This record gives sequence, structure tokens and C-alpha cells, in this order.
Amino acid sequence: MSEIVVGQDGLYRDGVKIKLEFGNDEQIAALRKHEKKMQSHTDGFEPIFSYEVKGHSYFSCLCGTIMSSEVDAVSEDDIDCFEGIEKECRSCKRKYVYVIEREYFIHSSGRKVIKHENLRVKLKK
Ligand SMILES: [Zn+2]
Repeated sequence: MSEIVVGQDGLYRDGVKIKLEFGNDEQIAALRKHEKKMQSHTDGFEPIFSYEVKGHSYFSCLCGTIMSSEVDAVSEDDIDCFEGIEKECRSCKRKYVYVIEREYFIHSSGRKVIKHENLRVKLKK
């Protein structure tokens, strides 16, 4: 036997309207379930937004093969996500590693602050 569902003008089972019975637990349960479902329609809800950022980079291997990388990034200017990633050329098997060269300056507070950073690839020895 399938579940009782609440229709527009009464309770239904398998598409057939059923007679309402006072104190019928199964019918009460079906009505409660329906009420609960309708609650989220009247109360409203907060949508959740998300987006994915991917970092893409391309460079040319010494043999001429184009090397590409796609990594998950935190934000649109996040170059840190590439740091330490290793790539091997599929043609000549040379290995590369992404490095970030950073220039610092000392802030008046004495803190070391990044002045400039540059993403590069280095040939792995
Ligand atoms: Zn190569």
C-alpha cells in the first residue's frame, strides 16, 4: 500500500480520494507532513550563493610544448594557489615547478610587507 498524500480537496492514496476518518493515525501523519512541507513555503528561506574560482596558467616548455595548469583559487588575484605545483612535460619529460618571487619592504611598524610578487616557473633539476 502506498503513502497517503494530501490533494487539493482531501486525502488521496494511489490517485484515489479516500474517506476521512477521525483519529486515523496514518491520515493525521500525512496531514502533519503536508503542513510541515507548506511551512517552508510560507516562512521563506535564505538562499546560499557560491562560486568557484579557477586559476589558469600557460607556459611553453623548452621543447616548445605548451604546458597548462588549472588550480582551485581562493580569489581572482590569488597567485599563491600555484606555488609549489609541479608539471612534467608530456613530450620531453622535463619537470617544472611554480615558484613565487616576492619582494618585500619593511613597513614603519616593523612588519615585513609584500611589495611585489611574481609567478614564475623553474626547471627542476
Ligand atoms: Zn618539453
